[in-house]
Amino acid sequence: MAGTLSFETLKTQVTDGTIDTVLVCGVDMQGRLMGKRFHAVNFVETSHAETHCCNYLLATDLEMATPPGYKSTGWQSGYGDYVMQPDLSTLRPVPWLDGTVMVLCDLMDHDTHQPVPHSPRAILKKQIARLAELGFEAQMATELEFFLFEHSLDHIRKSGFRDLTPISGYNEDYHIFQTTKEEGIMRPLRNHLFAAGIPVENTKGEAEAGQEELNIRYSPALDCADHHTIAKNAVKEIAWQQGHAASFLPKWHPDRVGSSSHVHQSLWADGKPAFVDAEDALGMSVVMKHYMAGLIAFAPDYTYFLAPYVNSYKRFAKGTFAPTKTVWSVDNRTAGFRLCGAGTKGVRVECRIGGSDLNPYLAQAGMLAAGIKGIEDKMDLAPPTRGDVYEDAKAGDIPQTLRAATETLRNSSFLRAAFGDDVVDHYTRAAEWEQEEFDRAVTDWEIARGFERA
Ligand code: ADP
Repeated sequence: MAGTLSFETLKTQVTDGTIDTVLVCGVDMQGRLMGKRFHAVNFVETSHAETHCCNYLLATDLEMATPPGYKSTGWQSGYGDYVMQPDLSTLRPVPWLDGTVMVLCDLMDHDTHQPVPHSPRAILKKQIARLAELGFEAQMATELEFFLFEHSLDHIRKSGFRDLTPISGYNEDYHIFQTTKEEGIMRPLRNHLFAAGIPVENTKGEAEAGQEELNIRYSPALDCADHHTIAKNAVKEIAWQQGHAASFLPKWHPDRVGSSSHVHQSLWADGKPAFVDAEDALGMSVVMKHYMAGLIAFAPDYTYFLAPYVNSYKRFAKGTFAPTKTVWSVDNRTAGFRLCGAGTKGVRVECRIGGSDLNPYLAQAGMLAAGIKGIEDKMDLAPPTRGDVYEDAKAGDIPQTLRAATETLRNSSFLRAAFGDDVVDHYTRAAEWEQEEFDRAVTDWEIARGFERA
């Protein structure tokens, strides 16, 4: 892909002094880039082969705590190492940082050098391989929604997260004038990502004050997840460079619209779209119908991977475009799944359930596994829903709380078969821990409600 770097070019750039720093990054359970900054000379001489990280990186939370209860690691085993193995096909410039390039790594077992089964990249690669056995390749696109704020992250943190003024004063959905005022952040974002080999399509204002959307052209599933992860990091870094905060928290204010990450998906075979059938009324192939039937039937099972925190579930509110129903519709934004590009060769399904906090590797893996099951079992697709799906009493619900999604995940025999028991147990523990931490907290809401009047 244009914009990525060959190892030979990097060596030349290091020799001529253009590049001095290599970010060597893994992806953690939360979908964050985690790693080290190498001196470029060291990287090209030795560490391009491998480096190491503490294995707690796949058993921690947003706070970097060391929760008990993981089989893979813990104090009992002394928190050993994983091998970080650079995937040199992901080597790319980081144009928003001076003299810097980046590479993504696969996390491998320290002794066997086999992929760590619960590492997000390995989980997605496994489903991509299963799909390849059926003769298909998945093309995916994840939309990134986020909020920009007037002040910097450091200022906001020091204010106890009180001074939260969005960068714009009004709903800026599709607005050109308001988004022109934000070009100090958004123009470098588009151009730097593009120069880093990430095929940016566009950015636009979204349906709330300060809310933005970044669209990246669809790519094979693993590339799509890599693009999403790097782009999310870039949004935060470039906003920070300009003295502003960017947040991917799905719901930062009870009265404001939340942020999503819709996922567009289509299957291809031999380089041709496998979802297309010109003879069908909506242009959908039989394979597409089976895939969508699986996607919809198993949505409750993989909801945790679309909504991994307590806050994620605050986004699912009626009349906000955040869907909660496991039904599909033709170009209707209130259903969990929307048919896009009906009757064209770009026909695809968009899952609208995921929040801006999803880990794209895990979300895509869950959806691919569900689609694969639909194809394998030749599952039947129900007819599309019409009208306001929020009012459709017959439509199935996805889990409405983290607690409910955790139980669905724990008891999912479908995901246990697709991902492996150890992987499902690992993420069930992550989900439990998140809830336990929340249950320990005494929230502002409780104090304001009960301090005087209880
Ligand atoms: P929307 O109106 O939902 O924003 P767009 O036309 O902007 O729809 O497309 C949204 C995303 O869908 C884009 O990122 C685009 O690259 C992606 N997309 C287009 N065609 C396909 C396809 N065949 N498979 C997967 N994603 C696709």
